[in-house]
Amino acid sequence: MKKFFIKTFGCQQNVADSERIVSYYESRGYEQVNEKDEADIIVINTCMIRDMAEERVYGYIRNLRKKKSADEQEIILTGCVVGAAARDTSGVMKKKLEKRIPDVQLLPIEEVGFEYSQKRKNKQHAWVVISNGCNNFCTFCIVPFSRGKEISRPFAEIMDEVNNLVEEGYTSITLLGQNVNSYGSDLVLNSENEESFELPDGKKVSPVMVQHLGRERIPTLFPFLLESVAKIKELESVSFVSSNPWDFSDELIDVMAKYENIDRLLHLPVQSGSSKIIKAMNRWYTREEYIALTEKIKKVIPEIKISTDIIVGFPGETEEDFEETVDLAKKIGFVKVFAACYSPRPNTVASKNLVDDLSWQEKKRRYHVLNDLINKRNMGVSKGSNWVRER
Ligand code: SF4
Repeated sequence: MKKFFIKTFGCQQNVADSERIVSYYESRGYEQVNEKDEADIIVINTCMIRDMAEERVYGYIRNLRKKKSADEQEIILTGCVVGAAARDTSGVMKKKLEKRIPDVQLLPIEEVGFEYSQKRKNKQHAWVVISNGCNNFCTFCIVPFSRGKEISRPFAEIMDEVNNLVEEGYTSITLLGQNVNSYGSDLVLNSENEESFELPDGKKVSPVMVQHLGRERIPTLFPFLLESVAKIKELESVSFVSSNPWDFSDELIDVMAKYENIDRLLHLPVQSGSSKIIKAMNRWYTREEYIALTEKIKKVIPEIKISTDIIVGFPGETEEDFEETVDLAKKIGFVKVFAACYSPRPNTVASKNLVDDLSWQEKKRRYHVLNDLINKRNMGVSKGSNWVRER
């Protein structure tokens, strides 16, 4: 029997995808091993959210090849690097891969469908993917290129998976997607009747309208999905990542307030505290709107704690812009921040049109200011929670 080893880089979505990849290879007669030296093939699930993440992938492959040649050990690449290369119409990414890592095979993650169930190690908490991809095109973000358009899994398929997990004894679920709170837009827009959606229990609901890219409004089913999951009394904890401030509806807040098993730790990426930078990022809220949203949530759910993602050193971020971010962080009282230094990503609007004008040293300084302000002060708060980041 051939043996495979899987290495996962990046976010929880990749972790969940890797759990499906395990089923995919096992169904083809492969056996998973925990030591890479024992494996006939190494599957690498890649991340390229930042330059450093992408370089880590190439470094890992370099080290593998120092030990074993392509004849001795096959390397299969999947995940974001493969997705970005496939969607890069200029062909630059493909050429880069051929040059830097010539003897690897590519496995587009789309080939590993949801018919391959996740092989989970954790027996209490499960990550359940509800959608994949993103339509938002924040100017810094590679996800719309690496994962493509947002595609929602059918409502009933998700509920079947959740119900099966509950039967297996799972008590904690996190609903996962790049943009969970626009979940179902495509399902509704592709249906015959956009005004009404039938839930798996036969109940008909009117989709909730949310803002989309500041221009139009789109229907979402996320509040109904969250409620259907939270209603399951065996579930002690239900959470979701990542949500976008501009898709955060009043209906969603009401569902969160109604069910005590919905996690009181909300991850709500702000990315910057300066309206000027938020706009340059192509994100559809202002600093004031973000603050107003968090105040509204706190009013309805006083015990809520909020974590966030922030990018420092985005092109054009002045010291004043950064100070606005620090000020916003103090005002909101974030309990955790996933701060990251900006690095241009291929094909994004920021990489094509904006100048990466801050030194790495200054980006690092700003990173540490936020990290010291939020994460050091709140050390221990995160214990027991499923911390994840948007990007
Ligand atoms: S940062 Fe989030 S919302 Fe923006 S494009 Fe990336 S995945 Fe989509």
